[in-house]
Amino acid sequence: MSRIAYVNGQYVPHKDAAVHIEDRGYQFADGVYEVCEVWNQHIIDMPRHFDRLDRSLRELRIAWPATRKAVEFVVKEVVRRNKVNSGLVYIQVTRGVARRDHFFPGDDVAPSIVVTARNTSPAAADRQAEAGINVVTYPENRWPRVDIKSVALLPNVLAKQHAKDNGGKEAWYIDDEGNVTEGGSTNAWIVTGEGVLVTRPADSGILRGITRAVVLDLVNREKIRFEERPFSLEEALSAREAFVTAASTLVMPVVKIDDRIVGNGHPGTVATALRHLFHTATDLQKV
Ligand code: PLP
Repeated sequence: MSRIAYVNGQYVPHKDAAVHIEDRGYQFADGVYEVCEVWNQHIIDMPRHFDRLDRSLRELRIAWPATRKAVEFVVKEVVRRNKVNSGLVYIQVTRGVARRDHFFPGDDVAPSIVVTARNTSPAAADRQAEAGINVVTYPENRWPRVDIKSVALLPNVLAKQHAKDNGGKEAWYIDDEGNVTEGGSTNAWIVTGEGVLVTRPADSGILRGITRAVVLDLVNREKIRFEERPFSLEEALSAREAFVTAASTLVMPVVKIDDRIVGNGHPGTVATALRHLFHTATDLQKV
């Protein structure tokens, strides 16, 4: 089956899908994106992802490329046309195509939109979750506006490649105070020796993850002991459990940090329970 992408009003074969060389996303990373999980032909937490997209666009003063309803329709249509059962749908909006100049172009320049979708293997992800992943630490070197889900991901690319080169699946950024901020494309969590779940507050230094928000709903519902506060690398190394969250990984246990074993070296019970319960707390929209 040939893949289909949506580019600026048209559904086109994925292999031919293209934007102009003077798209500001290409020239300046002047754009934002969202990634939603597709699960059993449902889009997970679309309202929350679209609220965050709206916020990212407003922070950068980029207009919606079409009405929110129209973009929602396109997202579902791309998932349908690609016959995605379980996988990911990607939405990117940039400030559009204009002669290269740092200043914003005029209002006559329309934002660009690209939507793609692909199947992933839930079985492979579950196998990964049963084994747990290794994370590798990396100095926090990103701009302070990581709350905006911008396509400017070069620091994340470098951190994640460093992790991969050192046997990890994810990088954990460590700030100047020795605290873990977040992963290269995930939020970071620990469960302390006393059984308290801890994650950093989303008001600075991290992206306000949608998966993180769902896990917080679950934590409240299941009455799990929880503290929202920064935690240090040292605390993570002596934690009972660690895990990461993202739409692309859901709840993914961490079993090693920089070659040091976390807890008993196996995925923890809290992370595993949260992973199993995850879709009981999400918004599901049939495609
Ligand atoms: N933090 C960063 C830097 C990310 O790139 C992502 C997802 O791409 C997340 C956290 C997790 O966000 P979400 O749960 O909305 O996927």
